[in-house]
Amino acid sequence: MSVRTSIVWDYAPAPEATDHVRLRDSYGLFVGGEFRDPVDGRREPTINPATEEPLAEVAWAGPKDLEAAIEAARAAQPAWAALPGRERAKYLFRVARLIQERARELAVVESLDGGKPLRESRDVDIPLAAAHFFHYAGWADKLRYGVAGREVEPMGVVGQIVPWNFPLLMAAWKLAPALACGNAAILKPAETTPLTALLLAEICQEAELPAGVVAIVPGDGATGATLVRAPGIDKIAFTGSTGVGRDIQTALAGRDVGLTLELGGKSANIVFEDAALDQAVEGIVNGIFFNQGHVCCAGSRLLIQESVADQVVAKLWRRMGNLRVGDPLDKNTDVGAINSAEQLARIEALVAAGEEEGAVRRTVACDVPERGYWFAPTLFTDVSPAHRIAVEEIFGPVVSVLTFRTQAEAIEKANNSRYGLAAGIWTDKGAKAFEVAAALQAGVVWQNTYNHFDPTAAFGGYKESGFGREGGPAGLRPYLREKGA
Ligand code: NAD
Repeated sequence: MSVRTSIVWDYAPAPEATDHVRLRDSYGLFVGGEFRDPVDGRREPTINPATEEPLAEVAWAGPKDLEAAIEAARAAQPAWAALPGRERAKYLFRVARLIQERARELAVVESLDGGKPLRESRDVDIPLAAAHFFHYAGWADKLRYGVAGREVEPMGVVGQIVPWNFPLLMAAWKLAPALACGNAAILKPAETTPLTALLLAEICQEAELPAGVVAIVPGDGATGATLVRAPGIDKIAFTGSTGVGRDIQTALAGRDVGLTLELGGKSANIVFEDAALDQAVEGIVNGIFFNQGHVCCAGSRLLIQESVADQVVAKLWRRMGNLRVGDPLDKNTDVGAINSAEQLARIEALVAAGEEEGAVRRTVACDVPERGYWFAPTLFTDVSPAHRIAVEEIFGPVVSVLTFRTQAEAIEKANNSRYGLAAGIWTDKGAKAFEVAAALQAGVVWQNTYNHFDPTAAFGGYKESGFGREGGPAGLRPYLREKGA
């Protein structure tokens, strides 16, 4: 009889250094190519959610500040649009290269300000942000080819509002296509994560982008609402919650302002019995625990074929026990801090509702730091399609498991949502994957993988997940209008 020695794995702390980070104590608004004091805004601290310590003070824009930003943008936009595309491209290439040069610093600041593991900000957020600038730099002199040969012109001055879950990446998704198309852009970062957008403002200065072409105006929902309603804006691009998206759509009804909305999701990750189950478990983990589940397209509804449900849940639960929760700056951390106290309260409320409605909860036992906002990876089984945890976006490290018997039932359950942002399919059968993908009402469908992003691929929603696409040539269209239209 052979006796196996059990090995208990542990890791020594592996914190990323922070001594190379050059954060200022206080940031002004980036308007007209320079950092300015707010006129009628105020200054607010931005907090590290892993320690609750302030990182820097940041100016929030008031209505007069937004007016100044719009004025500077309107003054700068015609000359920017008149540049030959290849000249605009040079600026975008420069921004992309400067993001790469400052990648280490940007990654650390993203993790400090937002709570996400350094492994993710270093390997996903920052490289993808640079890749978006590279990609759209390539489009700047080929715009007609991206819109089927039509004669097009820029929209003008665009207002862009982004959420806190991928601060620099969402800024890049918005700014790169807008600038490539010849627009001037006014970007409002989210209240809890303004820092990397402000570092991007420094990068715009370093790249000698003409003054006024980009403004970075931090603030809260009130700042966003004022920007949406401001005269002098030709288009709004919004990424955030469905509720705010609805408010923006209402505010713009009847006005000649372009609008794209990238909203929430409750995406189905479907595991068929013929899937490579161990691989699927890795994909499930990546689908829901990546960025603490603060991901619009998170695979938060896990649909497993009944015949393998117990097996998959057992494997998943075992795998969840190996996730390392803690210091976002530790290179071994898998799950970092929850972005804010408000978000933590939202997650806790929905998890409590799941228990009250009768679903069975399992939460990984782990030690988390005393200060900061934390939520351990959680799995719900015995979930019914009507439970709130199966219907509402939790936006945290919480997965709800439902089961199905047939392919038709999987499709029906996956589509039984007011959202339609993304989906995953795990199967060994190519024909089945394509058949199911074609029947799913989701903007992105991943096959035997999850949460893979590429600047060349369009991303966007169906139903209450919004409209408009970002990424690839499709991402140019919202920033252009046909000449004379
Ligand atoms: P949120 O809607 O509360 O805030 C998003 C942004 O809008 C923030 O900058 C905020 O300050 C601003 N804002 C708030 N109220 C506003 C108003 N009335 N008018 C104008 N702007 C306003 O969302 P959040 O909590 O920051 O982000 C999480 C949400 O974002 C989730 O629902 C998530 O699914 C969604 N999201 C979607 C995508 C996508 O591509 N579809 C990507 C990331 C996040």
